[in-house]
Amino acid sequence: MKIIESALKASTYIAEIKAKGKKIGFVPTLGGLHKGHQLLMQKAREQNDVTVISIFLNPMQFRKKHFIEYPSDFELDKVIAKKKRITLIFHPTIKEMFPFVRYLDDFFPFQNDEFKARDPERFVIEPKVQNSIDELIRVPNEMVYQLDGKLHPWFFDASATIVHKLFKILQPDHAYFGEKDIQQLAIITKMAETYFPAIKVIGIPTLRDADGLAFSSRNVKLSDKQRQSALKVYHALKYGENLIRKGESETRIVLTAMKKIIMAQHLLEIDYIDIVDKKSLKPVNQINNAVILYVAFFVNSIRLTDTLIINLMNEK
Ligand code: AMP
Repeated sequence: MKIIESALKASTYIAEIKAKGKKIGFVPTLGGLHKGHQLLMQKAREQNDVTVISIFLNPMQFRKKHFIEYPSDFELDKVIAKKKRITLIFHPTIKEMFPFVRYLDDFFPFQNDEFKARDPERFVIEPKVQNSIDELIRVPNEMVYQLDGKLHPWFFDASATIVHKLFKILQPDHAYFGEKDIQQLAIITKMAETYFPAIKVIGIPTLRDADGLAFSSRNVKLSDKQRQSALKVYHALKYGENLIRKGESETRIVLTAMKKIIMAQHLLEIDYIDIVDKKSLKPVNQINNAVILYVAFFVNSIRLTDTLIINLMNEK
């Protein structure tokens, strides 16, 4: 297993692999590898000749406090990646990915661009500004202002910007993303269609622990009591799903029932909850097609999300 920090060296290595006609499967991560990440790696291995992962905690994607507190352990990640027979870990420094940003603190004002006008439908690349982020991708309004993107639209600019850079460096054939981050998956799929038509983005269903809690890097921060509370969100999602499968089609009624279950837990606070159309990610009043039940919530100060995709049409 190779570990490369330099973008140039990684590109050169990838070019050698591609020259041999080998297919590359790529899994981008923030580190703190868990079983959900491992499922993506496994899929990449099954469907390609070579598996590449990136481990890069992108400062653009976080408030400063959350960036500093993010639970990741590169030594442990290396052991996991080796077990999964990863060919290359691309593990760049911040300087490598953002050569024009001089200080960590320079990333965080970007997040105050909350209401910056974006093109309604098209991706826009903002060119390099000195001492700033180069090739910043602005995701179309249509895609950013959905789900909890309404609360932190900059997050998806940040995620698209880093994935755009990673795709340029690593030129994979297939790239794997979790359905757990459904809005990110939709945005990256569209971004790849726009700028990297040769890269196919593949969505992978959410992997859950035996008790039903979706694997997440932040789960290690949960106490037993907090974990039990977080699980109630999954129970609420399952309850909502059951109502829908039994024929309830009023979003309002399903959401009210779900909220009741979640709000009975005093450790939980709902940040965002909705039922949206699977394709457009827009809220629906009536449930009669493929929908997503989505909850973003806090367990004390730990922010988690969970989601269920329900495909009524395909199942009939
Ligand atoms: P992250 O490091 O949190 O950015 O996650 C890297 C990738 O793993 C993203 O595409 C996530 O959607 C995906 N992922 C995270 N948790 C899970 C999970 N429990 N099951 C499947 N994929 C996941």
